[in-house]
Amino acid sequence: MNESICANCDAVLEGEYCAACGQRRFRPRDRRMAHLLGESFDALTDFDGRIWRSLRAALLQPGRIARDWIEGRRARWISPVRLFLLANLLYFLAPGLTDLSLPFNDQVRGQVYQAFDPAVCADPATSGKCRGGQHHSAYTESLLVRRLQRERAAVEARGGRFTLGPFEQRYNAQSEAIGKLLVILHVPFIALALALVAWRSRRYYAEHFVVALGMTTFALLFVQLLLKPAEWLYTRVHGWLGTSGEMPAVVPLLLLAIFVGHFAAACRRCYDGGWWRALVQGIAAFVRGGQHVGLSPGAVPACAVDDVIRSHQTSSSEDIFLR
Ligand SMILES: [Zn+2]
Repeated sequence: MNESICANCDAVLEGEYCAACGQRRFRPRDRRMAHLLGESFDALTDFDGRIWRSLRAALLQPGRIARDWIEGRRARWISPVRLFLLANLLYFLAPGLTDLSLPFNDQVRGQVYQAFDPAVCADPATSGKCRGGQHHSAYTESLLVRRLQRERAAVEARGGRFTLGPFEQRYNAQSEAIGKLLVILHVPFIALALALVAWRSRRYYAEHFVVALGMTTFALLFVQLLLKPAEWLYTRVHGWLGTSGEMPAVVPLLLLAIFVGHFAAACRRCYDGGWWRALVQGIAAFVRGGQHVGLSPGAVPACAVDDVIRSHQTSSSEDIFLR
């Protein structure tokens, strides 16, 4: 065996690694069991090490991975796309998280309840829904109303009385699954907003995209790893103490500050501007990530941030329905 020739591709070796194919110099001891075990251990710990480092940076160092990616320092992190997919996987597997889906209640305005099921608005326990709806509801509502008319006609043709409840339940179950699948759709829109407000940085769209991926990854990780456990603990403690589990009114503001703050810090790190400009960019990314724009595809998914905040405001009315 000639150790100065690459065993994989026959190129002449000048260092420990082959310049042509990247394989490490092959030695007789590499054929032993100890090497195999050592290699497996390295693979596991090194891979894990990079994953943990990347997860920590995604949560605690806004824009760090994106900036490093833009400047070519890529080997120390797992790729931003892979990290995003990992956060999505965690999110997809996590049960009972509906923060990225839009329930039926958010897709229509009160008139629809009034028209199709006035009993909902008459009952004080559910009348909150008749004040529902979002900025985009006028668009999504027209799609739903046509469907509801068909459903009602079908029920009435069988001689039954139409109520919104069963439809709403089916709608929400599907909306949750689809919403989870469509998280990725936020990213190009956030990237577009960044490209518009940070046009002076003269970066490629892909670079804005990576910054946007980092923001979305943060949102997903923050919600699952910190916010949800904290919320669970909070409710539990209140359960033990027998006190009311209402979130203090300051919570939505605090969340808003955390997300906008993180986004702005990411922009400052990636676009070399001052804090004021970064704040404007961060807010642009935040708003574009939310569903405030009618442009967002079908307005089906919403940005995690906006929904988390909103879910705290509306959770009481939704809970009543889900129970
Ligand atoms: Zn080689």
